[in-house]
Amino acid sequence: MLAVAVAALVGLVVGSFLGTLVLRPPKGLPVVGGRSMCPACGHQLKAGELIPVVSWLVQRRRCRACEQPIPVFYPAMEIAGALVAGLSLAVVPWPFWLAACAAGWLLLVACGRLLVKTG
Ligand SMILES: [Zn+2]
Repeated sequence: MLAVAVAALVGLVVGSFLGTLVLRPPKGLPVVGGRSMCPACGHQLKAGELIPVVSWLVQRRRCRACEQPIPVFYPAMEIAGALVAGLSLAVVPWPFWLAACAAGWLLLVACGRLLVKTG
């Protein structure tokens, strides 16, 4: 049970990165290296604003700088990443867990791209 919880926490962080894989390339932004920022005003997020799901909730779903709503897409990708990791470990034995996660996360990125493309 503890391993599934740890896998889900890892999945939260990975899910946050998967969100950048979905959103940045179509805008011509770098996937690696660029700082996370508010999609509305470009405010660069500080460490306390980068905690998956928690920051979104604590900030009441709004940017601290411009008060614009932060799309639910961000925490949804983080939660989905956690679900993929946690559920994969719950049903797939350890060495194959990583492959199951990779497959699930790839599907998540593909679905995210479709969602973003279709609006
Ligand atoms: Zn902002």
